[in-house]
Amino acid sequence: MPQLTFSIHSRNAGADLFVQYEVVPHASRLLQRVVDHYAAIRASGGAEGLSAATRGGLFNRDPLLQTLEFGRVLTLTLEQGAKVVSVAGIQTKPYDRLPDAVRRLVEQLGALPTLQALAGAVRLVANEALPAMTAAKAAAADADATSGACTQQAATQSACRVPDRPARQTAPAAGPAAATPSSPSAHVSPYYPPICILLRAVAGCLVLPCIESAAVQKAGAGGAATAASRRQLMGCKVSGVLREMCAAVLAAPMAADLPADLTLVDEGPGDMLQAQLYLHTYLCNLALHQQRTASALATELLAVPEVARLRWSGLEQLAALGTEEAAGGASPAHAGWLLLNRRLLEHENKARFRGNLSMGLVFNYIVDAAIMPANDAWSSPGTAASPGLVPSRQRLAALAAPIARAMCAEAEALASQSPPNPHLGGLLRSLHRVSSVLHSVISGAPEFEKHAALPDALEAVGWVLCAISTPGGLASSGASPATMVVRQVYALFVEASRLPPTSLAACARRLLPTGLLGTLDFVIRQELAGSGEPEGSIITACTLVLDAMLVPIMRARLESCRAGVPLPLRHKAQRRASPAGGKGGGGPLWHPQDELGLVVTLAKLVRREAAFAVVRLAAGAEAPSGTEHLMNMCTWGPMLCRITTGGMSLPTSGLVALVADLPALLLPASGGAGATTADPQPLSPAAQPAERVRAAVLETITLCNRTLLQLLEVYCDSLAVYMGSREFARAMLGPTRQLERLLMMPASVTIPTMQSSAPAELLAAQPQRLLAALGRVLEGAAAAAAAASHGQPANSTVSPVWLTTPELATCVPQSIGMMAMEEQLVGAVAGWLRGGSELDVGMLVSAVASWNPGAAMVIARLQREAASGDHAVLAEAARACMQLALTEYQAWKPVREAAAAGGLGGAPLWPPRVLRLCGNPSCCNLDGGGVEADLKLQRCSGCRVLRYCGAVCQREHWRQGHKAECAAVASGRSVSMFAASASPAPAVASDIAGGWVCMAEV
Ligand SMILES: [Zn+2]
Ligand SMILES: [Zn+2]
Repeated sequence: MPQLTFSIHSRNAGADLFVQYEVVPHASRLLQRVVDHYAAIRASGGAEGLSAATRGGLFNRDPLLQTLEFGRVLTLTLEQGAKVVSVAGIQTKPYDRLPDAVRRLVEQLGALPTLQALAGAVRLVANEALPAMTAAKAAAADADATSGACTQQAATQSACRVPDRPARQTAPAAGPAAATPSSPSAHVSPYYPPICILLRAVAGCLVLPCIESAAVQKAGAGGAATAASRRQLMGCKVSGVLREMCAAVLAAPMAADLPADLTLVDEGPGDMLQAQLYLHTYLCNLALHQQRTASALATELLAVPEVARLRWSGLEQLAALGTEEAAGGASPAHAGWLLLNRRLLEHENKARFRGNLSMGLVFNYIVDAAIMPANDAWSSPGTAASPGLVPSRQRLAALAAPIARAMCAEAEALASQSPPNPHLGGLLRSLHRVSSVLHSVISGAPEFEKHAALPDALEAVGWVLCAISTPGGLASSGASPATMVVRQVYALFVEASRLPPTSLAACARRLLPTGLLGTLDFVIRQELAGSGEPEGSIITACTLVLDAMLVPIMRARLESCRAGVPLPLRHKAQRRASPAGGKGGGGPLWHPQDELGLVVTLAKLVRREAAFAVVRLAAGAEAPSGTEHLMNMCTWGPMLCRITTGGMSLPTSGLVALVADLPALLLPASGGAGATTADPQPLSPAAQPAERVRAAVLETITLCNRTLLQLLEVYCDSLAVYMGSREFARAMLGPTRQLERLLMMPASVTIPTMQSSAPAELLAAQPQRLLAALGRVLEGAAAAAAAASHGQPANSTVSPVWLTTPELATCVPQSIGMMAMEEQLVGAVAGWLRGGSELDVGMLVSAVASWNPGAAMVIARLQREAASGDHAVLAEAARACMQLALTEYQAWKPVREAAAAGGLGGAPLWPPRVLRLCGNPSCCNLDGGGVEADLKLQRCSGCRVLRYCGAVCQREHWRQGHKAECAAVASGRSVSMFAASASPAPAVASDIAGGWVCMAEV
C-alpha cells in the first residue's frame, strides 16, 4: 500500500517527554472529564442547568462550544503524541527495534482509557455538536429569510459554509439554492471548525500509531508487535471509538458550497477532509491486517454496522463520481464527501500534504477499505460471510461500473502526468481488485442473478481494462496486468456469450464508450511484444467477446451514429495521437477500425500461422515440429470463421448477420427515400459514418475470407504431409480425437467461407487450388487408412478418425457446385473441370471416391456437363446436384450480393479503402502502437489507394503484382469516387483529420 507522508509540524517533542510527563494519560483523563462534565450539566437540568453552569464559572459562554474547544486542544495534544510515534518510524521499522519510550507511548495511545476518552469526545460531536449546528443553521436560515440581504457580508467572511441538508442524504442532488454562494442558507457555524479538528485529531490518534500488518506478520504469533497490535485492536473494539468515528463522519456535512478562495476555509473542511482520509487509511490498514493475518478482531471491526456503512458509502460516493463523469464531467460543486471534492483536495494537497496526496490515492483507499476484506466472500452461492462485511452481489455489480469508470478517468489523469504519478500503481491494483471481486461475484452467483448483473459487470470490466492499458499503467504495475485481468474475467466473457440477444444489445450499449474491443486488441499486442506469442486463453477470451459482442457493439455504434449522438471516445491511445481528439467538433472521431481492429489483428495472426506453415512445407516434408502447428491452424481457422460467418449454415450471426441488417440500419433517419445516386448531394453527417461502417464491415469479411482460403490451402497440404508421416501412424494408435478434429476442420470452414464470398472475390482467391489441396488430403487419408488397416479398402476401416472423412469428401462437389451456379464463376469452373493445368480432376474424383462414391459421382457428372461447353447446362446440373445444400446456399445470397456491390462508392472491397490495412496481402505486421488502428500506413504514390506499413511490404507487393495493377487501381479509384460524391471521399478526409494517414511518398 502506498504510504502517505503525513506532514508533521513539530518534530521536537520527543517520545521521552511524552512518557516522562505522562502526557497521554493526563490528557485523556482531562478529555474524559470535560466531556463527562458537559454531559452531567445536560443531564442535571437541560437549558436551565447550562445557564447556571455558565454563570458558575467553568463555562462563561456557550458551554457546548467551550467543551468542543477543550476537546480540540486535548485531542490535538494526543494527536501530537501519535505523530511522535509515526515520526519515530512505527510504519517502517520493526516494532522491537523502536526505542522503549516510543513503544511505551504506543501502549499509552492504544490503552483503553485513552481510546474511551477519544470515543467520548467523538460521541459528543455526533450526538450534540452536529445536531446543534444543524439546528442553529436552520434558525439562522429562518432569520435570514425574514431579515433579507444583510447576510452577504457574513457569507464572504465565512470560515465555512454549511449545507442546509442533513448529511446522510447521499443523493448528489445539490439544489440550486445550495449552489448559490449568496443564498441565505450559506452561513457560518462556530461549531464547525472545532468539530472538524477534533475529528481529524482522533482519526490521527488511530491511524498514526497503528502497527502495520506486515510488521505483525513478520513478528509472528507471540511477538511484541503482535501483542501490541492485538491490544490496539481490542481497545478499538471495546471503546467503540472506530464505530463512533464512522458514525460522526457519516453524519458530518457533505461538501458545502466552498468559496472560491479556499484559504478562507483552511480550518474546517480541510480538517474534515483529512479526518476522512485518516479514517480510510486506518480502514485500509485494518483490511490488509484482516487479509494477511486472518485476524478475527479485524474482521469484527470491519463488519461493525457503522464501519460497514462508511465503507459502502465510500463506494457509493465513488459511483456517484463515475455517474457524473458519464454525464459530462464532475461538477465543481460536487455534493459528495469533502474527501472527494477535487478542488479542496488539490488545495489541501499543496497546503498540508506537500504534493503527496492525489485523488487516485483516495480512490485507492476507498476501494480497498470497502472490498479488500470481502474479496472471496462471493465465490460460492452459499457463502455466509459475516453480515455487514459484504454488500449484495447485484448492488456491488451495479456500483462497480461507475466506480471503474471514475477510476479509469483518474488513472488516465495520473498516467498523463510527467513523470507518471506514483499513486497510479496503487490505483491500478485497486482496479484489479474490482475486477477480481466481479469475477467472484459472477462465478458464484446463481443463474438468474448472474444474468441480471452481467451488463454492469461487463461495463466495469471494460473500464478496468481501459484503465490498466493506459501507457503509464503498464510501467507501474508489472508485466501485462491487462492480460491478468482478461484471464480473471474470462468467466464473465463466457457468460456473455450465452446471453439472449436483447441482453447482448443492452451490454453492447454499455460497453460502447469503454472501447473494450480496442483494449483487447491492445492486450494481444502486449502479449506479442512480451513473450512473442499471445496466450491461448487470451485469444479464446477475445474470440468469445467478438463472437458474442462484435455484432451487437457494431449495431449499437450504428444506432448512435444514426441518432447523431456525439461519438463516444475512441481507444485512448488513439485519442492521444489525434490532435483533433479534443473537445471541439462534437467529440473525438470514431473509426470502424476501433472495433474491427481486433478482427484484423486476429486475421493477421492467422496469416502469420499460414506463412509459418508455408515455410515449414518448403523446408521439407518431415519437419519435426509435431502437430502443434497443425493444431494452431486448426484452432485459428474456425475462430476467424466464427467471427465473420458465425460458422453456421445460415447467416444469422457473425459479421455477415450485420450485413443483412445494414440496409435497415443505413436508412436515413429522416426517411429520405428520394435520395438516389442521381442526386449528388453529400451524404448526411449521420449517414456518412454508417456508409463507412458498411464498407468497413464488408472489407473485413473479405479480408477474413481471403485469409481463411489462404490458410485452408496450406493447412490441407500440411495435413496431407502429416498423414504420410510415421508420427501420424503412431498417433493413430492412441486416442484419436485430435486427429478427428484435424480432419474435420477444412469441412467446417470451407463452405461458410465460400458461401459468404462475393463471386469475384472468390475467383481472385484462386479456389481451384484449395480444391486440389482438399483432394490431396483425401488421397493422403486414403493411403494412411490403407496402411493402418493393412491393405483393406479405406472406407471399410472402423477407426473413428475416418468417420468424418466422407463429410470432408462431400465438401468438394459442394464447393464446385456452388461456384458453378454463379454466373461469374461458371466459366472458370468449366475450365477447371475440362482439365486445365490448374486442377487434376481425375485425381480429385478418385480421392473423393475412396471416401464418398456418391460425391465422386457428382463431380464426374459436373465434369461431363462441363465438357458440353454450355455453361447454362453446367449451372443447371450444379443446381440439381446441390440438393439440400441449395437452400442453404440461397440463404447466403444477400451477403454475397452486398459484397458484390462493393465498398465505399461501389469501389472494390479489395484492396480495402476504409479499413486501414497494409496493402500487402501477406503482411503480418503486428507491431503498430498499442492497437491495430495505431499502425502507421503510407500511401502508394502511384495509385494513392493502397496503403503499406512500410517499404518492405510495398516492395514485396509491387513484385507480387501491384506493379501491373497500380495504374488500373488509380483509375478505378477516380471513377468510383466520382460516382460516389463530388466532395472528397470520407475515408480519406477523416483519416487525415484523425492524423492517421501519413501521406509520405513511398
Ligand atoms: Zn505490411
Ligand atoms: Zn499503387
